[in-house]
Amino acid sequence: MNIRVRLTLLFALLVASIMLVFSFSVYYLYNQYREQEFKKRLRDKALTTVRLFEDVGGITEELLHDISRNDLTTMYKEEITVYDAHNHVVYDSGEEPYHINANFLNQVRQGKDVSLRDGDKEIVGVRYIDQKKQVLVVVAYAIDKYGISILERLRTILITGWAVSLLMVVLAGWLFSSDALRPVSDIIEQVKNISARNIHERLKIGRQNDELAQLAATFNDLLSRLEDAFSSQKSFVSHASHELRTPLAIMMGQLEVSLLQKRTIEEYQETIKETIDEVKKMRDLVNGLLELARLNDEVSQNHFSELRVDDLLWQTRDILIHHCPDYDIQIEFEEFPEEEALLQIKGDSALLQTAFLNLMENGCKYSPDHHVSLTLRAQEDHIRISFSDRGVGISEADLPHIFEPFYRANSTQYVKGYGVGLALTRRIIELHNGRIWVFSQIGLGSQFVVTIPF
Ligand code: ADP
Repeated sequence: MNIRVRLTLLFALLVASIMLVFSFSVYYLYNQYREQEFKKRLRDKALTTVRLFEDVGGITEELLHDISRNDLTTMYKEEITVYDAHNHVVYDSGEEPYHINANFLNQVRQGKDVSLRDGDKEIVGVRYIDQKKQVLVVVAYAIDKYGISILERLRTILITGWAVSLLMVVLAGWLFSSDALRPVSDIIEQVKNISARNIHERLKIGRQNDELAQLAATFNDLLSRLEDAFSSQKSFVSHASHELRTPLAIMMGQLEVSLLQKRTIEEYQETIKETIDEVKKMRDLVNGLLELARLNDEVSQNHFSELRVDDLLWQTRDILIHHCPDYDIQIEFEEFPEEEALLQIKGDSALLQTAFLNLMENGCKYSPDHHVSLTLRAQEDHIRISFSDRGVGISEADLPHIFEPFYRANSTQYVKGYGVGLALTRRIIELHNGRIWVFSQIGLGSQFVVTIPF
């Protein structure tokens, strides 16, 4: 059941129940009022009749009958019976007295206000003490033909009114819910038409600042993020294939040339060496890409262990210098912390080593003197490490992009690289809830700062 039908039904059910309660109350209260009024009339009639009966004394019953029948206040099927103290009928206005039980008469005699209902007949009893101090009981009954016909009419009006208004409520509810839900259907229609091909399209937000407009705006935000992710994924794939194609093309070229004619063993060895160099480049690139892809998925921090940052930095420095002996990496403390625990963080040592290695290597790689200096400082709740070099520097235009995968600044194209290292480094630092940022000036050098919370 869709929301529109559900809203209409709920609305109709609510209004129908309220109207039902209202109609029942009107009917019930009117019936109470009618009954009270009719009984009052019956009592008055009973008293008037018994008084007349007593006054006329010797008057014949026929005369009394005539008076009673021709009176304008006579009610439909009215009959009045007077009983003496021994429950004997002393007067009855009809042909046959109504047989009332003795209990009813006794209760009236005790002064109780009693009344009965027998089918359509309303029956009341009245106690009367005559001049001879005799206690008489007058029983009057009649049918409230007029009152009942009004009651029936009222019932018909209420039932018809209820049914008609129910129909109107369903109709109004249906129109109202369709109007209220139109923005939702609009959003559904628009969303249906958005796919990977036209992910740049956005939902119309409308002029009102209601919840639905907020929903559309939130959805547009989501689309923007998806579009960014989508385009960076696309450029990632095209960059990756481009970077992989270059060494493949070089290898193909080298192997084809060496096959053109017979070569000496040394020449073959040379070709194999060059091919292995290209394969190594590809392996490095593929490793970097795999690492980046792995870190972009949710990597859990459960396996993080306690490690000392300064030890890790020294180990990383040794590994790098082992591969590139002409690199000069200096590590110093801004001030050595009083407690050694202030150098400990929770993390993944292999990942952090990759990040530090990238930063150290970049500093050396992009500086003519191949020198980078690290400064370590333990602050209130984090460790701060800065990597400074006096290299080529990064232009203002390149700075915002250097953490994007495959981005390489123009000033550094002469050095080999793929532009994957910093993207990987930032992801690793973020995984450790840390931050990384850079200051740089072209021609003067760069400073990368990393902070990692304890
Ligand atoms: P790669 O070094 O393989 O090109 P990175 O992701 O490590 O990839 O760096 C991205 C780009 O950022 C580099 O190509 C370079 O242009 C710039 N860069 C990074 N570190 C430095 C640095 N210390 N000095 C100058 N430029 C740098």
